[in-house]
Amino acid sequence: MTDAPYPVLRTRPKRDGRFRDGHPWVYKDELVLDRRARGLAPGTVAVLENSERQPMALVAVNPDSGIAARDLDRDPTARIDAGWVHARLERALALRDRLFDAPFYRLCHAEGDGLPGLVIDRMGSAVSVQPNAAWAETMVPEILSALDALIAPETVVVNRDSRGRTQEGLEGGRDCVRGADQGPVRVLLNGATYLADLMSGQKTGVYFDQRPNHAFVAGLAKGREVLDVFGHTGGFSLACLAAGATRSLCIDSSEPALSLATDAADLNGFSERFEARRADAFDAMRALAEEGRSFQTVVCDPPAFAPSKQALVAGMRAYERTARLAVPLVEPGGTLTVCSCSHAVTPDALRETVAKALRIGRRTGRLLRSGRAGPDHPSHPALPESGYLKALTFAID
Ligand code: SAH
Repeated sequence: MTDAPYPVLRTRPKRDGRFRDGHPWVYKDELVLDRRARGLAPGTVAVLENSERQPMALVAVNPDSGIAARDLDRDPTARIDAGWVHARLERALALRDRLFDAPFYRLCHAEGDGLPGLVIDRMGSAVSVQPNAAWAETMVPEILSALDALIAPETVVVNRDSRGRTQEGLEGGRDCVRGADQGPVRVLLNGATYLADLMSGQKTGVYFDQRPNHAFVAGLAKGREVLDVFGHTGGFSLACLAAGATRSLCIDSSEPALSLATDAADLNGFSERFEARRADAFDAMRALAEEGRSFQTVVCDPPAFAPSKQALVAGMRAYERTARLAVPLVEPGGTLTVCSCSHAVTPDALRETVAKALRIGRRTGRLLRSGRAGPDHPSHPALPESGYLKALTFAID
């Protein structure tokens, strides 16, 4: 037993193996959820014991969630307090300081940074905090104090809109809790200035995970014309234009996202070379093919079509449709990049989807690069779910 001031939670007999082997989650059916355990408020810190009553770790409990306990600290005698949160965020910051020379990155990537469910994006003097697990919600004051001490942000938005929160039974909404909401924030990335809307944009406002994939595509786009499908605020377009692409056509169904992309293009002096088109991506790709248009650089970065294993079959069909419509739009000698941010879609499944689209389109191609999320999105080694992003770039003949 420990003297920790925390309640005790036990795994069921012979159900502790996965957690013992390093997995950071305990599922509901692996726990003894008696009345007492079920009565623990979401976010409660508890000592996790195995069925032999040996303490294994401190966990954050949420009896309402399928993931009923999340690993906080393998030292069962630790204290989960302001100092603990500060130390974890300090470690996350030290890693980013080594990785990047400017303060634009994902500062905290949940389990990958030892802070389950907590996502923090840093955009210069502004940060967006997503407390996507119940324990993080209860510790928002400690998280904000640690951020003040470590990076003293001028603007802090607490964003409670993620899908993960619904599964945790948490409320939605966004609050600007430090500074004033002064509209879109400038984000310096890949030689361009992007614009992020922290208060009403998608996710935290910018997709930092795509940084190395934007950069790779941009490196091949010099002197070329780009088609950026599902372009959002223009991440791929801006990087390509900064790298010397001749033009970019950015297609998205979201007017607010495209308006930010257009403002960012103006800000960078790219307005002559940038065009935003609001349309359904599938309709727009069909229309471009009918007009006989083709591009040397084509990117498709759709939303998570398969957000869960249950949605995999329908989701794969949507990726297939995307790839089949994109292939004919690539000029011979050009590149096609197809991304997927669905956990359930493996890199192999995505590669096969493009291979099939090439076959159907009577084209050939070679896989140049299999990209992932950037290193400011570290994965927990035991958690394949945290390696969700795939970006495959093909050279097309
Ligand atoms: N490529 C972007 C991120 C794309 S996120 C970047 O690197 O920053 C996916 C985008 O797809 C969102 O902006 C969303 O508005 C858009 N989208 C979703 N469904 C769509 C559809 N059917 N047609 C066009 N755009 C769509």
